[in-house]
Formats: sequence, structure tokens, C-alpha cells
Amino acid sequence: MRSTTVRRAALIGLLTLATCAPVAQADDTAPGGGGTSVSSMAPAAPTAQATPAAAAPAAPVTVSETQTVKLTRTQTKSVQRRAHVRADGSLGSRTRTAIKRYQRKKRLKRTGRPNLQTLRAMKLKFAGTIAAQMAAKQRSVAPIAGYVFPIQGPWHFGDAGTFFGERGGAHEGIDLFATCGTPLVAASAGTIKAVKWDDKGGNYVVITGTPSGEDQVYMHMKAPSPLKVGDAVTAGSPVGMVGDTGNANGCHLHLEIWTSPGYYSGGKPRDPKPDVAAWGGVPSR
Ligand SMILES: [Zn+2]
Repeated sequence: MRSTTVRRAALIGLLTLATCAPVAQADDTAPGGGGTSVSSMAPAAPTAQATPAAAAPAAPVTVSETQTVKLTRTQTKSVQRRAHVRADGSLGSRTRTAIKRYQRKKRLKRTGRPNLQTLRAMKLKFAGTIAAQMAAKQRSVAPIAGYVFPIQGPWHFGDAGTFFGERGGAHEGIDLFATCGTPLVAASAGTIKAVKWDDKGGNYVVITGTPSGEDQVYMHMKAPSPLKVGDAVTAGSPVGMVGDTGNANGCHLHLEIWTSPGYYSGGKPRDPKPDVAAWGGVPSR
């Protein structure tokens, strides 16, 4: 990483200045695209989700205290009892309101959804089990050395039609939803092969010469990447920001991975979903 931290900060500053023009809300490529269209000028603060390039596999795993957790029916009923709402076995709007009320009373983050912080405040025994399960899951997706997850902020998968090979095979990447303006970094070392605009892909950048020999493509960026063709990047180098330029429904990174020899030079797009986990990507919901 070395000096890249300073460069990153400077670049992100530049990007922020460069993108103060309003972003047009483009229409949709994705049937039921799933994301929210939040346009924000300020880049989202990098979170703990940003994985260092060569994370030691033995690093302690910290799990999110405020991320929504999935509960069994019985667990849901326990939460509803604690939140003083009539138990009906589902997390409907009444339960959400009651949880929010409970969270406000206990001065917790008001999400209206069950999370570790809330389950612990409710003194529910299964909170520990859920924390252990989350840690195990995170450990199993320990990032591979030399790669980082490119979205430096909370993100989530989309609905049907946003995964690789969907839309009758026309979707050659995967859509990862995050607030517009969330910083994007290179997933690995490589060289910038293209910085372009495309009516479908909007502002996009292609990284070649990666450790796997495959090309990475980042589309719908909020503004043109400040990088130029031929620039060298390392894992974690800023490349741009999540946006919804081109034909995009909601702010998201459309990520493509092309087999060697790469993007429109003899390679083929393949499913990037396994890489999302391998690079340490953990969806926020
Ligand atoms: Zn897409």
C-alpha cells in the first residue's frame, strides 16, 4: 500500500470536485434492478469492510453489530416478545416499528431490524450463536492475498436479472448495489487498459495485467476515472466512484471479469460472483 493511501485521499478529493454536476437518472437495463437511486455528492466513508491487500488469514474476525440478521421463526417470536409486539411469526411493519421503538429507548442504532446489537440488548441467548455463525461465514471468505473488494462501503446484491448470464445471457457481469459516490478501488494490481464512456456501461474502466491474467471491468461509474490508459494500479488504488451513468437502474457497480487475453481482445466474460466472496466482499444485507 505504502504511498497509495495519500494518493488515494488526493484522488478521492479530485473525484469529488470533478463530479459536482448533477447525475442524470438513466433508465434501466435490469428488469427489477433492485437498487435505490440515491445520489450523493460526498463519497461514502471507507468502512471496516475495506480489506487490506494482503490480509493475514489468521486475522481476528469482527462481525457487524448493526447488520440485519436472519432469524428463525422461534427467534423472531422471542424478539417480538421483547419488543412488546403481538407475535405472529413474521417481521411485518408492526414488528419493525416496535423494534425501532425498542432501539430508540435503548439508544441503539434505529434500524427497525434485528441485529446483534439489539439481540444483545434484549439479552437473547441466541445472539452469541448468531455472532459465531457470522464470524465463521466471514472466515470462510477470507480474502485471497493480493486482492481487495473494490466497493469501499456497504453494498448488496440485486434482484433477479442482476446476476451473470441473466437476461437471456445478455448480462455479462454482476450488479453490486451501493450508494452513488461510494469509492471504488482496483481489486488487484494491474494496468489500465481503457477509460471510456459507453451508452450502456456509462463511465467505465478496464484493468488488465492482473495476477490471474484476467481483465476486470467496472461500469456505471459516477464520473470518468481520473486514471489514464497505461497507468499502473495496485490492489486498493482508487479507480472511481459507484454511480448510475449509462443504462443503469439504481447506483451500482456492474463488474465484469474476462478470461485471458481479456476484454474484447479474445477473452470471454465469466461469472464474477465467486470472486466477490474471494475478494472479501460481504454484503451488508
Ligand atoms: Zn449490470
